[in-house]
Amino acid sequence: MKHTTRDERTLLEVKHLKKHFPIRKGFLRRLVGQVKAVDGVSFYINEGETLGLVGESGCGKTTTARCILRALDPTAGQILFRTASGQVVDLATLPENELRPLRREMQMIFQDPFASLNPRMNLLDIVGEPLLVIEGIKSRKERAERVAEILRLVGLRPEYMQRFPHAFSGGQRQRIVIARALALHPRLVVADEPVSALDVSVQAQVLNLMMELQQRLNLTYLFVAHDLSVVKHICNRVAVMYVGKLVETAPTDELFYHPKHPYTEALMSAVPVADPRIRSAMIPLEGDVPSPANPPPGCYFHPRCRYAVDICSQEAPNLEEIEDNHFVACHRAHELKLRGIGG
Ligand code: SF4
Repeated sequence: MKHTTRDERTLLEVKHLKKHFPIRKGFLRRLVGQVKAVDGVSFYINEGETLGLVGESGCGKTTTARCILRALDPTAGQILFRTASGQVVDLATLPENELRPLRREMQMIFQDPFASLNPRMNLLDIVGEPLLVIEGIKSRKERAERVAEILRLVGLRPEYMQRFPHAFSGGQRQRIVIARALALHPRLVVADEPVSALDVSVQAQVLNLMMELQQRLNLTYLFVAHDLSVVKHICNRVAVMYVGKLVETAPTDELFYHPKHPYTEALMSAVPVADPRIRSAMIPLEGDVPSPANPPPGCYFHPRCRYAVDICSQEAPNLEEIEDNHFVACHRAHELKLRGIGG
């Protein structure tokens, strides 16, 4: 079957992606329910672009990222990817033998550089491992030359190649994680909270490095994060998730200054603004995030929404394009005048 994406610039297009986890109980492990961790998510990323995927913890953003890289098998939906040869494939259903050669084109940067590096391997082995396993470069000398080149690229000295992870600071370790992800010249990099485990002073350095590498290597990023200040710094567009669904996507400035969904408005009110003359009142979010195993009827946000009306608890709103490239899932998106960051 021939797949098509929204246009030629689209590197990744996710359509109606679902990932449900069964809940089983009793001796016979009877199916008693489903945790709908990701429930019908759709978005696209153009080549060379950074899309931020944001939301509170447990909203399904990491599960979405893991499905895209097929670390988890999706329950339903399509994950269309334009390969280096220009062919569009559906990663959601691709068998493992056809997926394997594509793995070099998609890499992941993990949140915790302390946990994601093997403490018993030196830098040469950590960064050189994908070169050995996937590219089949057996010569240690050739691998060392390639590793030295990659280390320079991420701002580490090639002389460090024989050292082990414990000899490096948190920021340097995240550079090593980035170096390993870039070893195979990927086109899509999925970064799952890549700076949240780092000190604030180091976060900016790593973000600037990621942006510089994007320019030099024409990388495309899916940037999963909960820190909106970080997202504002690095992303071209942002998608907001709530209980397994997308509630709003828009270009970054549009989303930050003119949100159209009440949940996004509440998130924006909590973002600190650098200007001391601006004092925006934080919008409190009452109640807890609903469980994806037992979400409320209608709009999942209605028990916490200060703009909710009758229809909100009866009908689930669809994600609709209400302005150019600005998609919102809210029954009242056209009429509400919401506050943006610092508003
Ligand atoms: Fe609030 Fe209703 Fe919009 Fe949901 S659909 S966000 S409850 S106004």
